[in-house]
Amino acid sequence: MPRTVRAMLEVELNSWQEHAVEGHFRGQNPWMHYHHLCTPSLSKITGAEEDEVVCTNSLTTNLHLLMVSFFRPTDQRNIILMESGAFPSDQYAVETQLRFHGLNPADCLVELKPAAGRRTLSSEQIRDAIHQYGNRIALVLMPGVQYQTGQVFDMAEITRLGHAVGAVVGFDLAHAVGNINLKLHEWGPDFAVWCSYKYLNSGPGGPGGLFVHQRHAQNPDLPRFAGWWGHDESSRFEMQPGFKPMHGAAGWQLSNAPVMGMAAHRASLEIFDRAGIEHLQVRAAALSAYLRHRLEDIQQRRGRHAIELITPHEHGSYGCQQSFSVGHRGEELLRYLQQNGALLDFRRPDILRMAPVPLYNQAREIDLCCDLIDHWLEQYSCT
Ligand SMILES: *Cc1c(COP(=O)(O)O)cnc(C)c1O
Repeated sequence: MPRTVRAMLEVELNSWQEHAVEGHFRGQNPWMHYHHLCTPSLSKITGAEEDEVVCTNSLTTNLHLLMVSFFRPTDQRNIILMESGAFPSDQYAVETQLRFHGLNPADCLVELKPAAGRRTLSSEQIRDAIHQYGNRIALVLMPGVQYQTGQVFDMAEITRLGHAVGAVVGFDLAHAVGNINLKLHEWGPDFAVWCSYKYLNSGPGGPGGLFVHQRHAQNPDLPRFAGWWGHDESSRFEMQPGFKPMHGAAGWQLSNAPVMGMAAHRASLEIFDRAGIEHLQVRAAALSAYLRHRLEDIQQRRGRHAIELITPHEHGSYGCQQSFSVGHRGEELLRYLQQNGALLDFRRPDILRMAPVPLYNQAREIDLCCDLIDHWLEQYSCT
């Protein structure tokens, strides 16, 4: 939790206490405009123009809203291409969107699986699938970083391939935002969504965000599920019928901002701004490479049967996260690490996830944790 969260919340609590409903227009940060305060930082973090991003709703809500606008199947073109290991919420969203359009996921959902014996998808597999399904693909929906394996996907290339067959391209950046270097504007996907409570440290249930590429900023033909906060700001409080969308990403907002959650989000974003995302990324790359080196060293000494490194090792194919497996005793190792002060995460059946981040981890902590892993393997693993 950023140390500044309490003070940031205090400002809005005081404004509420002092001004009551008038806090929308008075106080230090009138709530009516509160979400704007997040925009400059989010545009830097995602490599987008300011009119392409907005802090609003939550990830899954935004995914649904943007699929309403960008997944527009026809008889000929009705396939959604995604990966088989996608986060359950994304799977539920995609399946229910297909059914909403009267389509059967069994026919229209193509999920890419790693090849037999592999843990991750290769670039060739993604390219071949996009070519194979070609002009039948309506939407390519991929993560920026796979949440289980930590694999970073080549978003520029996926966007290029998807667009080349006439498909819409969207990304789920839950594990990418605040982690890896993003250049959304330049790469040119049609849309992207994220949450703020992973690498962005903005607290439980913190507000999500969305990206809509500038080329769609003024497109009046896009269908959308609208709400008053997406309506033109200058006439929003005239409360007249007839939805007039804000220019760009802001037009997908629905409701007035959840200011308390956004205040915590801002506290974190300010730290990202002060540190500079480009500096954080240099430090992240060094920490991640060091962790990778330590894990490879452990694997070399203890053997592949003792520890399997799941995250791909190629340059650019991992961010902060390294995933590994110690077989069926993963939960045991997790508990051992936790008892000794290292907080990792376990995904059934066998994936351990470890993610040192530049804002609050140090190489010394990577050493401590890897020493613990090494020690545990020495003591408890069967050779
Ligand atoms: C964390 C995560 C989510 C969570 O969605 P919410 O709507 O914020 O609860 C969705 N997708 C992915 C890939 C995630 O990692």
